[in-house]
Amino acid sequence: MTRPNPRFIDASSQFSAGHCLAVIRRQKDGVTRSELCELAGVSRSDVSDRVRDLVEHGYITVQARRPSTGGRPADVLRLNSDRGVVLGATLGSTSLRVVAIDMAGVVLAENSHEVKLTTPIASRLKAMHSLLRSTLEQAGTGTRELMAIGIAAPGSVVPDISAGRWPLVEVCRQSHDYFAARYDAPIMVEHDACAAAFAESRHPRRKVADLLFLDVDASIQSALVRGGRIHRGTHRLGINLEHVMVAADVDVACACGNVGCVGAVAAGATLVERASRADRPVKTVRDLARLAAAGDRAVNGLLDDAGRTIGGVVANAVRLLSPQAVVLGGELALSSPALIAGVRDVVHDQVSAQVRVAGAAFGPRAGVFGASLLALESSLAPAAVNLRLAAGEGGARAARRAV
Ligand SMILES: [Zn+2]
Repeated sequence: MTRPNPRFIDASSQFSAGHCLAVIRRQKDGVTRSELCELAGVSRSDVSDRVRDLVEHGYITVQARRPSTGGRPADVLRLNSDRGVVLGATLGSTSLRVVAIDMAGVVLAENSHEVKLTTPIASRLKAMHSLLRSTLEQAGTGTRELMAIGIAAPGSVVPDISAGRWPLVEVCRQSHDYFAARYDAPIMVEHDACAAAFAESRHPRRKVADLLFLDVDASIQSALVRGGRIHRGTHRLGINLEHVMVAADVDVACACGNVGCVGAVAAGATLVERASRADRPVKTVRDLARLAAAGDRAVNGLLDDAGRTIGGVVANAVRLLSPQAVVLGGELALSSPALIAGVRDVVHDQVSAQVRVAGAAFGPRAGVFGASLLALESSLAPAAVNLRLAAGEGGARAARRAV
């Protein structure tokens, strides 16, 4: 085992190599050593040491000189986007998606695979493993290091205090253990609504720090990005709008044991049942989405009502949380302009027309992009970079091998 080099893990150091990399990453056009000193408020010698470490381990490159303005030209330091690859994946109810991105978050390869609702988790994981490997090959990783894998998994989040980590439902735990046994890279598992919310907050057309996200499908999942980070809350449960009670004409029992939760009144599972009772040919949320897209008036009427009911809950959430944007994802919302319009109308009527309410800009790929971006952020966090350097890993393009 390589002995950790204390130079990289000095806790008292305010400007470690990892922090230096974080400053360089933020400068999209690159940064000179002098600018780096100014941005970080440190001395030239501190910068020189850290830059040398980062260049040596492939995290940054020293690139073309800027045009001289009369003085001495200076080297420009940039993130080495080719150093590694990060994989993101979603275990959706009817599809598996995988994306490979470079260190700058640029997509290198992307794949998806349809599965049935009844496909067991073991078969899904096996199919996902195959998809991850083929995507990695297509990304042409070469000597790039596999830095991390982010998995977005579905399901209601339940607390797991004993684990002392983020709360994993069983599917999350299984996913983590399955891939951790097969890949020589850190595995992060995230709730799919949180992953999608994170991606949407970073979308080039949006770029907001505070965003409320709802995934409207068979159920309603929700997530909040606050100050650019996923809001976890005291027990790491995040936010859960699914079980907010709403007024309804009839009592609808919810799986949580209460009556009248918005998830029971206005989500896809209930809407499928109602459409079916109204003699519409639907058995699944996908059937409902197909009829909505084809302009079925009865189905669109149901979705408009559902949008207004969900809109009432969202309006209250907006009053409490004051997000810059409300984004709706999930198969049902994305296939139904009526549902999104219903939510938007209520929010604008009840709260403010200034609040942006829109469908997910990444569409059904929000979750997979979010999973990859979260894994990227985690692997390039200052502490992670410092630990990797201290362990002597990642030197001179040491490629991690997927087994
Ligand atoms: Zn409930």
